[in-house]
Amino acid sequence: MTDVFDLEALRRRLAAAPDSAGLKPLGLQTVVIGDGALEALPDVVADLVGARHLSGPVAVISDLTPKRRRSADLLTLVTDSLAARLTVRGVRVGTPGHRVHADEETLAQVTRDCEGAGCVVAVGSGTVADIGKAAAAAHGAAYVVVQTANSVNGFADDRSVLLVSGVKRTTPTTWADALVVDTDVLVEAPVEMNVSGLADLIATFTAPADWYLATLLGMDDSYSPTVVALAREQGPALLAAAPLIPDGDRAALEQVAATLTLSGISMGVAGTTAPCSGMEHAVGHLLEMATMQAGHEAALHGALVGAGSIVAALLWQRVLDELADGGLSRVLVPDAAEAEAGVRAALRTVDPSGNMGEECWRDYERKLARWARARERVELAAENWPSHDRALRDLLAGPQALVAALRSAGAPALFCEVTPPVDAEAARWAVASCHLMRERFSVADMACFLGIWDESCVAALLRDAAALGAGR
Ligand SMILES: [Zn+2]
Repeated sequence: MTDVFDLEALRRRLAAAPDSAGLKPLGLQTVVIGDGALEALPDVVADLVGARHLSGPVAVISDLTPKRRRSADLLTLVTDSLAARLTVRGVRVGTPGHRVHADEETLAQVTRDCEGAGCVVAVGSGTVADIGKAAAAAHGAAYVVVQTANSVNGFADDRSVLLVSGVKRTTPTTWADALVVDTDVLVEAPVEMNVSGLADLIATFTAPADWYLATLLGMDDSYSPTVVALAREQGPALLAAAPLIPDGDRAALEQVAATLTLSGISMGVAGTTAPCSGMEHAVGHLLEMATMQAGHEAALHGALVGAGSIVAALLWQRVLDELADGGLSRVLVPDAAEAEAGVRAALRTVDPSGNMGEECWRDYERKLARWARARERVELAAENWPSHDRALRDLLAGPQALVAALRSAGAPALFCEVTPPVDAEAARWAVASCHLMRERFSVADMACFLGIWDESCVAALLRDAAALGAGR
């Protein structure tokens, strides 16, 4: 994988791309993935601190779950290796027995505990890394991630998924300066976490189509084929690695780690999570928000996204049929008052206080206003529909292929298979409401504006997903 992480070569490639003008600079300076990667950590941190003339201790952030590398405790290894060169301050996140959440209170506490640090080192998976980004950004400190599992693709970008009024919101924070992924640490990570990252990457076969259509119809301005290619060209290697993940195969884990990193970089340089996050993520976010609101532990992010990708791929088939049948000449603009009532009612199901509904309506209102101005772009797209149809089909993979990829890694393909299982009513609610939670345009918005998004469509998608998942 060394050619993938020649970051200078990647920078040159991005600069030479025909669509380079819209891309953001790649903020990552160093990525070390593989055997013995952790041994590079003290040099990586010391070089960063020296190059930027930073003073203050190194704050090492971690949650309370012990992690191992070979037979040793990982946090002790990290702390001792850094303490031999620099002053280290330990910052623990969370309370015993509970998964860490990136809520306002946790962020404030960690940011306080990192005060004065010249460098923040996060030892953890997605949420701890996201909290670390926010804390490093608040203090202008250097930031290094020691990735402890292949759980999500959010390590290598400049955004954090934070909870705002209980709603998952992607918020600009900072790039990691360095990412350190040691194969021996990945081998020790829980299998379901490593499988979860593969499932998160299944969105690579649905979300780019949402992004393409959004930009085509004037609902986004940022689509970049160069960005989409970064993770997509790893597709065959990723699918080959999938069945080897449950056995802890080292090369397979390194391949998934590299693809997660490229996927993260694609979001960072695009300046949006859109290349990797479409309808499937909105469904997953809603389910995560609902379980958290109920005071329960949500299933792993990637597991929900994987199951959501199957539903999104199924909906794409219906939407493409409708669009090929002249659907763009029949689009409608929902009535704002009705839409507002719909958003608030959907979110009141999980948050009777109305705060989540308020937060979501703020975003949905902007999407609706933009759609009301999109008529000209819609007409233009309709004129040349066959070529857009081809482009969209090239970006998508069929739902059967996605089920097969998830199954090959032992990942859940259905909401009822994730841990803890999502019941049928919650799955129906999350799929039906997914377009209402954020400003981003997805295939579910397209279905809504085509007038085909109703209870029977949602029920049919979930029925079709169940049939595919059962091998029918
Ligand atoms: Zn994700």
